[in-house]
Amino acid sequence: MTAQDNTSYEMHALEERIASCRACPLANNRTHAVPGEGDYNAVVMLVGEGPGFEEDRQGRPFVGASGRFLTETLQANGIRRQDVYITNVVKCRPPDNRDPLPDELEACSAYLDTQVELVNPRIIVTLGRFSMRRWFGEVGITRVHGQIRNIGRGRVALAMFHPAAALRNPQWRIDFERDMQKLPPLIRRAQAADAAAARGEALPAGAPHPGDPDYAPPEEATSRGADSQGRRRADDAANAADYQQPGLLDLS
Ligand code: URA
Repeated sequence: MTAQDNTSYEMHALEERIASCRACPLANNRTHAVPGEGDYNAVVMLVGEGPGFEEDRQGRPFVGASGRFLTETLQANGIRRQDVYITNVVKCRPPDNRDPLPDELEACSAYLDTQVELVNPRIIVTLGRFSMRRWFGEVGITRVHGQIRNIGRGRVALAMFHPAAALRNPQWRIDFERDMQKLPPLIRRAQAADAAAARGEALPAGAPHPGDPDYAPPEEATSRGADSQGRRRADDAANAADYQQPGLLDLS
């Protein structure tokens, strides 16, 4: 089995577990759980808040009005929806689209951890407050949106407004569209860094995973034991590069 087959197998199994999950009361009122969808080997993972009416009906993330806006904004930046992985911090719809409660976030937390581990994205885009708090802490989204943070394991997180909030507030919409423009250069840098690491070269300065001691090259999360020589080469290259403390990256 190739590393990609293995990721696909494990992601399918996870999605089935999510679909039948009864770990919190949100399961009682759902039509469908919404595990997530997209490329299981994506460089970019987008993490929203929780399913709304249309997502609950279809069992797919971001397929209502805010989803259309999100998809269009990705497309405007040359990014196809099918090339990213999209999920939420909670997988079942909170009644009347209320905020998810702490117990609900906690009940779903391990699912998102596993999705991040399996997909092993280089870039996580947080959409809205609840997703942002997971990687940026207790900060205000109006202050933090647009910031890029090194979150370890060769990953960065980009904080963005939730697309539904951007549709409601004209200034936030401008901010949302502007923040999304940071994604293509981040993707290019991540791809260049992955390619360099795979060739055993030192990583380009300012790459998203510049020598984190726990850097996971793209294949590692999925192959587990396969291709260990290639992985060692990539690890050596990563460790040879300057170690950069987790913090905010300057993309200018
Ligand atoms: N809002 C979200 O946060 N997620 C979805 O999937 C849809 C709307």
